Amino acid sequence: MGEVLTTKSIIKCTSAPTPGKPAPSEPVHGGEVVTTSTSKLKVNGEPVLLRNDIGPAVSGCKTSSSASTEPCTSATVTGGEATKLKVGITGVMLADQLTGTTVGPPPGILTAEANQTKLTAI
Ligand SMILES: [Zn+2]
Repeated sequence: MGEVLTTKSIIKCTSAPTPGKPAPSEPVHGGEVVTTSTSKLKVNGEPVLLRNDIGPAVSGCKTSSSASTEPCTSATVTGGEATKLKVGITGVMLADQLTGTTVGPPPGILTAEANQTKLTAI
């Protein structure tokens, strides 16, 4: 069961783990993926997110600009739809299932906090 993402949820860009090493807990870049939703399905008055409601814009990433690094400005969601709870034909997005990448360099990944516990789905 995963918590359903809504416009109240926070989706952040962070560093991708290095293969063979534990996933870094820091630094979280501090950037947030912009979300918009007009879904009729709401939790606590906030519309739920579908894949197309997330990004691509990222704001506030604090990765410094250098020869090999740039702040994330764009993200692509690659997965996270619920299989059982849909709006129309599209699965709602789940916090614990969400996967995505940012442009970089270096490419980052996305993490999600639902910020609601009322509605969960698989
Ligand atoms: Zn970032």
